Amino acid sequence: MKVKLILPSLTEAKSPFFRPIKYSLFPPLGLATLASYLDPDDEVVLQDAHVEKLDLSDTPDLVLIQVYITNAKRAYTIADHYRQKGVFVALGGLHVTSLPEEASQHADTIFLGPAEQTFPLFLEDFKRKSPKKRYQSTTDRTIINQPPIRRDLIKRSKYLVPNSLVISRGCPHHCNFCYKDAFFKGGRSFYTQRVDEILTEIDRLPGKHLYFLDDHLFGDPKLVRELFEGMRGMNRVFQAAATVPSILHGDLIEKAYEAGLRSLFVGFETFSQENLKASNKNQNLKQNYEYAAQRLRDLGVKINGSFIFGLDTDDKDVFKRTVDWGVQNGITTATYHILTPYPGTGLYEQMQKEKRIISNDWDLYDTRHVVYQPKGLSAKELEEGYHWAYENFYTWQNIYKASSIHNELPDQFKHLLYAGGWKKFEPLWNFLINAGGLKSMLPVLETILADVKTK
Ligand code: SF4
Repeated sequence: MKVKLILPSLTEAKSPFFRPIKYSLFPPLGLATLASYLDPDDEVVLQDAHVEKLDLSDTPDLVLIQVYITNAKRAYTIADHYRQKGVFVALGGLHVTSLPEEASQHADTIFLGPAEQTFPLFLEDFKRKSPKKRYQSTTDRTIINQPPIRRDLIKRSKYLVPNSLVISRGCPHHCNFCYKDAFFKGGRSFYTQRVDEILTEIDRLPGKHLYFLDDHLFGDPKLVRELFEGMRGMNRVFQAAATVPSILHGDLIEKAYEAGLRSLFVGFETFSQENLKASNKNQNLKQNYEYAAQRLRDLGVKINGSFIFGLDTDDKDVFKRTVDWGVQNGITTATYHILTPYPGTGLYEQMQKEKRIISNDWDLYDTRHVVYQPKGLSAKELEEGYHWAYENFYTWQNIYKASSIHNELPDQFKHLLYAGGWKKFEPLWNFLINAGGLKSMLPVLETILADVKTK
C-alpha cells in the first residue's frame, strides 16, 4: 500500500513575519508516530511543507493530513485535490477535533482526539475496505507499548532539532484558553509512556541534544524523577517546557538539571491574579515568578518565558510591564501571544456567549492577530502593543541588560549568543536553510547549552 503523510504549512509561512528557522526546528513527530502502525512493506512518504515543496502529483492509496487551525485552509485544499483524483483522504489533529463537521467535508475519514488508539483500528477497516467516516479516541487510550516512531521517514538534515520527542500526551491542568481539553475530551487528558520506553527512545537518538515537546514535562513528578535518574550519565543536554510551580516546589528542577536540562519554556502568561483566575490557570496563582526565574538562572537553565496579551484586565501598560519584567529577570527568550480563543476551548465558548468573536477566519488565529473584542484595550492597541513588545524585548540593549543579570560571565555570554542568535541573525538562518547547512548548527546549539557552571 502507498501512503502519504502530509503536514501542510501554517499560515505564518505565508506572512511577512514568517521566519523560516522557526518552522525548521522540529520534524512532524505526530505523523512519524502514526506511520509506525503501517506495515513494513507499505511504501510511506512523509512531507512537511515548512521545509520542502510538496509533491502533489502522486496517487497513493491513502493520504493522511495533520490539521492545525492555521493550516486548515491549505490542508483542505490539499485534501480536496487528492479526493478529486480518487485518493482516500484521512484528516486528524487539533482543528479536526475542534470542528469535525467542517473537516469532514474535506475527508473520507476523520480522527477525533489523539490517533494512536484509533489509527490502527482504521487501518484494519481500511484494508477490509470498510473504513468508518469518523474515529473517536476514547477513555482506553494509551501511549504505552507503542511501536518505535518511524524516524527513518524524517529528513533530519532539514531540521535544527531533529531529536525531538514526546513522552506524554496532554497536561494535568485546565487553562481555559488551551486547546487541550477539547482535544482530549472523552478520555484521559494526561498520560505518559513508561520510563524504560522513554530511555530506550532516547538511546535511539544520535548526538547529544534532545528536545522534549511535552506540554508539561514535569506533569507526572514521580515518573520524571525516575526518568532523570535514568538519564544521569547519558551525557545529554535537553530543552523542555514546565509550569511555574513545578520549578518552585521540591527539588525536581535540580534533578532535571543533573539529567541535562539546559533550557525551559515556562508559561508565566500574566502577572494579574484576576486574569489567572479568569483563565482557570490556577496553578500560577500566588506563585513567586521572580523566584522561579532566579532558581532557573542559578542553575544555568535558560528561560523561554511565555506571555499572553489581551486578557480582560490588561491595559495599555501591560506591554512595557511585561517586557521590563522579562529583562529584569534575565529571561533568555520571550514568546508573546495575543490571546486567541481557539474553537473548542472554554474561552471560545465564553467569548461567543459574550458576542466578542470578531473573526472566524482561522488563518488569523495565529496569536499575532486580534480575533475578538478585547476589554481594556482596542484591537489596534493590542496588536501594536504586541509588536512593540517583541521589538523592544529583542533590542540588543535589552538582550544585553537581561544577560547581565546572570552572575557568571560565561552564562552572560551564552545568554547573549542564544537570544541574539535566535532573533538577530535571520539572514544567516535563511542562508543555512537554503544551503542545507542547518545540521551544522546543532553542535553550536549544544555548545551554547553546555554546562558552564563552576558552582
Ligand atoms: S498548563 Fe499549558 S498545556 Fe497545561 S492546560 Fe495550561 S496552557 Fe495547556
